[in-house]
Amino acid sequence: MSLDDVATALEDHLPGRVWRDASVAELTTYRVGGPAAVLVRVGDEAALLTLASVLACSRPPILLVGRGSNLLIAEAGFHGVAVVLDDDFTAIDIDPDAHRVRAGGAVPLPMLARRAAAVGVGGLEFFVGIPGSVGGAVRMNAGGHGRETADVLHRAWVLDLFAGSDAAVEVRDVGALDLSYRHSNVDAAHVVVRAEFVGESDDVAVCEDRIAEIVRWRREHQPGGSNAGSVFRNPPGDSAGRLIDEAGLKGLRIGGAVVSEKHANFFQAEADATADDVARLVDTVRARVADATGVQLVTELRMIGFDEPDHRGSLNERKDTR
Ligand SMILES: Cc1cc2nc3c(=O)[nH]c(=O)nc-3n(C[C@H](O)[C@H](O)[C@H](O)COP(=O)(O)OP(=O)(O)OC[C@H]3O[C@@H](n4cnc5c(N)ncnc54)[C@H](O)[C@@H]3O)c2cc1C
Repeated sequence: MSLDDVATALEDHLPGRVWRDASVAELTTYRVGGPAAVLVRVGDEAALLTLASVLACSRPPILLVGRGSNLLIAEAGFHGVAVVLDDDFTAIDIDPDAHRVRAGGAVPLPMLARRAAAVGVGGLEFFVGIPGSVGGAVRMNAGGHGRETADVLHRAWVLDLFAGSDAAVEVRDVGALDLSYRHSNVDAAHVVVRAEFVGESDDVAVCEDRIAEIVRWRREHQPGGSNAGSVFRNPPGDSAGRLIDEAGLKGLRIGGAVVSEKHANFFQAEADATADDVARLVDTVRARVADATGVQLVTELRMIGFDEPDHRGSLNERKDTR
């Protein structure tokens, strides 16, 4: 089945929720890059199962787009089906007595942190500084301020879009998600539908103070503007930002993309930047750090549409040399 046929089948099954040649740039924090061949907005689990039934035979490249805060889409765009969760997937349900928070895959992490803090569920405050979604946090095992998703996640509900007629939302305990530093076993055709976090009972004012402190720290140490946070993962026992800074690369510019003066592992896309400027800056910085230090940096940023799809026909994400 061609991508065109997939789009037609999706338009039949999910009317009003499918777009062709849809711009994705504004769904990402970099705000650059080309269109998705097909974009589908899914509002509830029934629609997700319908989507899975259409995609199972054709298995096109799939891209889940959360808050787009760790994505760089190539200028050539994404030749597959981009999936955005909305409506039911934005729900948050908090049980303060059990210190438990259930949140849909599309819930913004800062909102999760603030809602939990407001009812005295502590331990989730670090999410306030990470501008992603619950689904993106599970997939990336996002973390900061000494904590990561794995520390507070209890379980996640996951659907494999390629499971065909057997497609069903499965509950995976945190141990079954293989979470490690910015890694999980959630792959490109898996949708994190919702997740359950467990914090601890705490004083509301103390939780809110922690939130304010994290927000203050981020403003002081990280740049605003268009970026996707850390471009490279920290090598074991070191910091990618320190290596980039030591190689003298702060302020390095390619086209409209520039290494931040404030935080060397943040690359800014200025108003005239293209995705390819950012990608060339990534390659250049990696090569110059390798020359200067012998360390081969690995991207944390998900670079989409820069390489051929992998064997599953679903990733379309650029491979890293590790
Ligand atoms: C200013 C700034 C600061 C940041 N600071 C941090 C930080 O401190 N720590 C940190 O870890 N990250 C940080 N990030 C990066 C980013 O916020 C995280 O990686 C976040 O988890 C990405 O979530 P997202 O919803 O934006 O995912 P996206 O960028 O949309 O996607 C990232 C990956 O997750 C997948 N994905 C998204 N939603 C789902 C879903 N529902 N189901 C399955 N897969 C999904 C995508 O397909 C993609 O592979 C920062 C980014 C910015 C812009």
